[in-house]
Amino acid sequence: MIAELAPAGTPVTARQLAQGLRASLSPSAAKAQLLHSLNAVSGAEHAWPVSSGRAAMTLILTALRKLDRSSQRDEVIIPAYTCYSVPAAVERAGLFPRLCDVDPQSLSIDTDELRRSDFSRVLAVVSCSLYGIPDELPAIESICREQGVYLVDDAAQGMGSRINDRAVGSFGDAGLYSFDKGKAISTMQGGAIIARAGPVAEMLDREVHSLENAAAFHSFALYLQLVAYAIFLRPGLYGMARRVLGRQLGHTTYDTRYPLSTLSTLQGGVAASLMEAVERYNQSRQRVAAQLALACERVAGVSACRPPLGSTPIYTRFPVFVRPSSLRSCALKRLQESRLGASASYPRPLDQVPEVGRRLRGRNGPMTGGQAVASSIITLPTHFYCPPDLPKRIGQALGECLGDATSR
Ligand SMILES: *Cc1c(COP(=O)(O)O)cnc(C)c1O
Repeated sequence: MIAELAPAGTPVTARQLAQGLRASLSPSAAKAQLLHSLNAVSGAEHAWPVSSGRAAMTLILTALRKLDRSSQRDEVIIPAYTCYSVPAAVERAGLFPRLCDVDPQSLSIDTDELRRSDFSRVLAVVSCSLYGIPDELPAIESICREQGVYLVDDAAQGMGSRINDRAVGSFGDAGLYSFDKGKAISTMQGGAIIARAGPVAEMLDREVHSLENAAAFHSFALYLQLVAYAIFLRPGLYGMARRVLGRQLGHTTYDTRYPLSTLSTLQGGVAASLMEAVERYNQSRQRVAAQLALACERVAGVSACRPPLGSTPIYTRFPVFVRPSSLRSCALKRLQESRLGASASYPRPLDQVPEVGRRLRGRNGPMTGGQAVASSIITLPTHFYCPPDLPKRIGQALGECLGDATSR
């Protein structure tokens, strides 16, 4: 039997798990270490570990709303193709999403389209740097400055990615990381806000100080799940976990009822320990991504994502585009049968997600870029457990399927 690969993930060693328990013995030293690592990876002076990336986004948007003197601005521009947690966090903060289409080759917010947006009620723009591939952040940042709106640099999937030698997450007014499953590091759930010193940081500090601490029972339950995750992420066991948990694994939903609390000491201790290894994990992801790029280049009908110039993506996953969509379904089926960790990613652009659609502001035309991505994307795994022959096997699987389909 061929071992099944997870679509994304971070190994968590017994030593790293033990750091969580050890952190409980000296919580303030453990927290100082986590803050230090967050500062080092982002270059931002301030960091606040919180219960999730969604919670981080909600808190940032709430703080920005309070700082807005006009108090008329209740819209947030978000990319038309991204994780559903982003519009959910906008709703949780009592704000309304306005979509900006994405560039179907780089996955970035389309900067020409952003320039043409109606900013009259816009509080902030959120960039997403999907799969750790930086959005066109320098351009997005200058558009936001010209328009006098805030920029939230969501680096949920991009801890360690850089563009023009600046860390993703450090652009604009505030940024965030996620420690969920499938992100650059995983503590099951968790995240962090980052910001430079200034008025935004002061308001964020107030918001975070009014939070409740993570419930002890909940954080222990998450810790036990993390132990199971660490074991079952291994290729020999992942297939079993997927059969037991089924669609729950890696399924993306629109949910606004998540907790808003600080990150528990247990989770924070593991996060600090994982951050010591994040550069190594990312380098290994980048190596696999480079090999996947070569393997896919040889297959007609498959194109790799084109990251912006001057960027260094970490590739939490490696996205490729397969067109037309009939060939894409065939390729996806073939890859999934071979258990090579391929995934269809988010199934729809946000204008076609009902929960988002009913809150959407602006007369949006069709999101052609987002639609093109949703109908052609396949993400491939890059994580530490990818075997050396993975690129070859993926290239073969794609070649067989696309070859078969074209010659028919
Ligand atoms: C995962 C993700 C989030 C939310 O992070 P959670 O920790 O899962 O709440 C936000 N934005 C993007 C782009 C993400 O991928």
